[in-house]
Amino acid sequence: VRRLRDVGEHAWLATLPRRLPRGSLAAGIVVGAGDDAAVVRARPGRLLLTTDALIEGVHFRSGWSSPRALGRRAFAVNASDIAAMGGRPRWALLAAEVPPATPVRELDAILAGFAAAARRDGARVVGGNLAAGRHLALTAALVGEARGRVVTRAGARAGDGVWVTGALGACGLAVRRLIAGRGGRLPDPPSRVRAGERLATVASAMIDVSDGLAQDLGHLCRASGVGAVVDLARLPVAPACRRALGAAAPRFALAAGEDYELLVTVPRARERALVRLAPRLGCRLTRIGRITRAPRRVALIDGTDPRRSRARAGFDHFR
Ligand SMILES: [Mg+2]
Repeated sequence: VRRLRDVGEHAWLATLPRRLPRGSLAAGIVVGAGDDAAVVRARPGRLLLTTDALIEGVHFRSGWSSPRALGRRAFAVNASDIAAMGGRPRWALLAAEVPPATPVRELDAILAGFAAAARRDGARVVGGNLAAGRHLALTAALVGEARGRVVTRAGARAGDGVWVTGALGACGLAVRRLIAGRGGRLPDPPSRVRAGERLATVASAMIDVSDGLAQDLGHLCRASGVGAVVDLARLPVAPACRRALGAAAPRFALAAGEDYELLVTVPRARERALVRLAPRLGCRLTRIGRITRAPRRVALIDGTDPRRSRARAGFDHFR
């Protein structure tokens, strides 16, 4: 096995330019990977910038994903933040901290997965960095463009509907099984770039579900100065999660993290437009509740047990 310490940082980096796109006018790349910095040509308008890291021992453990899937994930968690603003990813950078004993083909696979996920979302890898470290850590930075409206967390108003894309709980369940030593792999985050761009035309506020729906809805409510009511019975729970947890699945899915779905609020006046565009999102969209006036309070309706839904009025994660 050829390991990174046998090959050396500079020799590995020297192979990058032939694996990544150079100049490509279509992709807006004037100078690609291999020089001191990349040069891109942005359209007039607004750029969205974000960065996020995957650190071994913090965000994942060795063996939870294949190297290629880990590369895809490093891109996807960043693309999710761009999608949650209504933007489209264009250019990506990947800084990898890698233990010297890592097989070279693992690092190759990480980069290949990262580049493939970028291409699928319409972005290109234009550079990065490689450093030796004790743990594997992948830090990506992403530049996106907004063609239409940019949507923040701060626009939700009382009466708006609360909607969520896709289904929740699959990744949380996988993590639980992995930690318990029952095997499996982390599921790939979904790509919601197209959905985000379309939802941005009708949304009052939007956020991606990375910390768990309950947490992230709390972030949105805090930014908007509002509260929310969520109907637990309406939550779109991932089939695997429902099979494994039965009646406990909705509450689990509410708190489980890393689903990377989009949580979006839509004013009543735009609901008809939302229904019209829903078939073109590329994923399901479910109404799970509504925004209320009660500042910062996220309450829960437990339709499975109406007697308890009032007495145990859900939770307030700011407490
Ligand atoms: Mg986010």
